[in-house]
Amino acid sequence: MPVVWSPMTRAHDPQNEVWVGVATIGTEVAARVDAILSAVTESGHPLTEATAHPDDVLARVHEQSMLTFLAEAAERWRQGPYVDLVGQSRVVPYLFPTPAMTAGLPTRPAVAVHAEAGTYAYDTMTLVGDGTWEAARAAVDCALTAADLVLAGERAAYALCRPPGHHATPAGFGGSCYLNNAAVAAEALRVGGHDRVGIIDIDAHQGNGTAAIFYDRGDVLYGSVHVDPAAGWFPHIVGYADETGTGDGADCTRNRPLPEGTADESWLEAIGDLADWVVAAGCSALVVSLGVDAAVDDPESPLMITGDGYRAAGSILSATGLPAVVVQEGGYHLPSLGSLVAAYLHGHATGVVSAP
Ligand SMILES: [Zn+2]
Repeated sequence: MPVVWSPMTRAHDPQNEVWVGVATIGTEVAARVDAILSAVTESGHPLTEATAHPDDVLARVHEQSMLTFLAEAAERWRQGPYVDLVGQSRVVPYLFPTPAMTAGLPTRPAVAVHAEAGTYAYDTMTLVGDGTWEAARAAVDCALTAADLVLAGERAAYALCRPPGHHATPAGFGGSCYLNNAAVAAEALRVGGHDRVGIIDIDAHQGNGTAAIFYDRGDVLYGSVHVDPAAGWFPHIVGYADETGTGDGADCTRNRPLPEGTADESWLEAIGDLADWVVAAGCSALVVSLGVDAAVDDPESPLMITGDGYRAAGSILSATGLPAVVVQEGGYHLPSLGSLVAAYLHGHATGVVSAP
């Protein structure tokens, strides 16, 4: 399976996440790219460098105001007093203009970048520094280049996107995600001639960004298997089974939340259900949001999926027979990250289901 990557995806260095007010070392690091690259190269997948694409498809899934903010935020921050005053080199939101604050009053855009940041950033874990925009934009190019390959006849292509994207909403970034690579890939497949596209998200967390982008649309289905937000996991306030879409998108969203500690069997059963669903709905192409943070060793989730589980997931989604763009999402355990991705790609490329 062709692997599309870009050296620019290493340019983003989150440094820290601010979690419950404390700066903790970020886990969405550039070393993830190299861990995956070396494993997929060892497995014999050919590497292709992403080519630059214009913003037109990206602008179909995100609001221009957020794209402009992300492109300019690091430079605005550098020009402010933040480095000298408090030693903070990353853009950290300070104020969130939720309805609790705005309360129906007419509001205007905040002038200070530390105040405006909360208009688009919805958490304090997703910091912006030099290189963040360039890396996120390069990840979008990876997704678009992989979509090009599939539109040109490849059965499947893998986009080594970093930073990940499935938590990025139309006008919001968070959850270590800035631009929604999977949504861009789905939109590219739509523009390229597929009337209905299915997205299956097997990251440990529900992709609230992708769900939000397509919630009222009938031409892109979104299905996700993830740890139950009701157990206290990100994205906390969405990702429940009774969220099924609205308007033209009625019944075009399907969430399969699973309890903490879920292992291969139930997880694969849920993925099989989502695969049957997109096929029955007449989708002609597939986007896989491949997060490997559901793995047993991953520090970011309590799911217990093995390498064999990921290989079987690849086989199940390959068996849909749909041409597929596989987009990298989460996965943070550096020693096993590469082999988990390689296991999935092996299952998807060969279609062989190994017994769990
Ligand atoms: Zn995740």
